[in-house]
Amino acid sequence: MSRTLILGGGFGGLAAAHALRSMLAATDEVVLVERQPTFVMGLRKSWALVGSGDLAGGERRLDLLTGRGIEVVTGEITAIEPEAKAAVVDGRRLAGDALIVALGAARAPESVPGFGENVHNVYERSSLARAAEALRSTKGGAIAIGISSASHTCPPAPYEMAFLVNDFLRSRGVPARVEVFTPQPMSLPVVGQAGCDVLEARLSEEGIDFYPNHQALAVEPGEVVFSGGRGRFDLLLGVPPHRCPAVAASAGLTDGGPWVKVNPSTMETRFPGVYAIGDVVEIPLANKMMLPKAGVFAESQAQVAAFHIAAALTGGTANAVFNGEGYCYLEVGRGLAMEVRGDFLAAPAPAVSIGAPLASHLNEKRDFEATRLRKWFGA
Ligand SMILES: Cc1cc2nc3c(=O)[nH]c(=O)nc-3n(C[C@H](O)[C@H](O)[C@H](O)COP(=O)(O)OP(=O)(O)OC[C@H]3O[C@@H](n4cnc5c(N)ncnc54)[C@H](O)[C@@H]3O)c2cc1C
Repeated sequence: MSRTLILGGGFGGLAAAHALRSMLAATDEVVLVERQPTFVMGLRKSWALVGSGDLAGGERRLDLLTGRGIEVVTGEITAIEPEAKAAVVDGRRLAGDALIVALGAARAPESVPGFGENVHNVYERSSLARAAEALRSTKGGAIAIGISSASHTCPPAPYEMAFLVNDFLRSRGVPARVEVFTPQPMSLPVVGQAGCDVLEARLSEEGIDFYPNHQALAVEPGEVVFSGGRGRFDLLLGVPPHRCPAVAASAGLTDGGPWVKVNPSTMETRFPGVYAIGDVVEIPLANKMMLPKAGVFAESQAQVAAFHIAAALTGGTANAVFNGEGYCYLEVGRGLAMEVRGDFLAAPAPAVSIGAPLASHLNEKRDFEATRLRKWFGA
């Protein structure tokens, strides 16, 4: 009998829990620790912002997992002891035979002065309703989507939000100019120049202004302060800076870097039997960029970590390797989505393409969510 602790019950944690459950005997415990009582996929945030879906429609209670052989502990993880494969949850110490850290990325809006007061944070579940209401009641003008840092969850999402917001305002006849700014020199550096050209051409066709090399230093009422000047806005929807959760960094898992370090093939950290997956890790690519933070990678990394843990616990060997293949559907408005797909670990640079906008890709995106909710929660 063994016990595997999974810290974080988001995309990666859920995928890992189910993978382990299917690989281990019923007497082996799989314990998932999460502060939130429910799960909802990140992609719902774009829909909730413009009202094409709501968070509740994709929200599932984690306690449903109990009936599927996964123990759920609801609480705040305040410490991780990697040598002991243990964690402290609301003052209670839990120890395991293996540990998976799947804590995602923390948001740090406080690192941009004025963000909290003047920006609608569209990445936080708790602030989306207010952002959606602000969008519904806007009289138009300059509507900005602001990206605060280079490393953030789902790099295509802010562009998707720009397309959807543009559609939303146009359909309501609101006289607005939608714009996106980013500190990056191009829209999605990881997809390369050709992919960026496709995306930026689409932004331009839709009349959305794109401002690369715009690092927001501070936000004041109605104005963003950039290093080279100021930008006026009537409504600012923003992606806050991201950082590694403090509890993972203080456990020594980042090894001095900004995110948790792992063996990129096995997802094992420098502590034997301790794995990390998803947004909390940083995986360098052949061209020195970093693997994008996406649910699809959290899921495939979960599978790899689960294989290695199951093999170690049952005395076998595992040759599962994270292969860096991934995809997502980037909605571009008018009921269409583009597929971003490729081999992100290819050398000398990721081999990723962005396909033509198709209505069928939007259906595939809905199916992406539905199949996982069915698999993980049964409905
Ligand atoms: C708008 C948007 C659209 C997206 N669209 C897509 C898409 O189409 N396809 C795709 O593949 N990905 C998409 N993503 C990205 C995807 O949501 C993330 O990459 C994915 O959720 C990462 O999984 P994770 O398990 O690493 O982290 P998370 O899913 O964030 O899970 C981490 C969990 O850990 C918990 N946690 C953290 N700290 C503690 C603590 N101290 N104590 C207890 N619990 C804690 C959190 O509450 C959280 O539930 C999108 C994201 C956004 C924001």
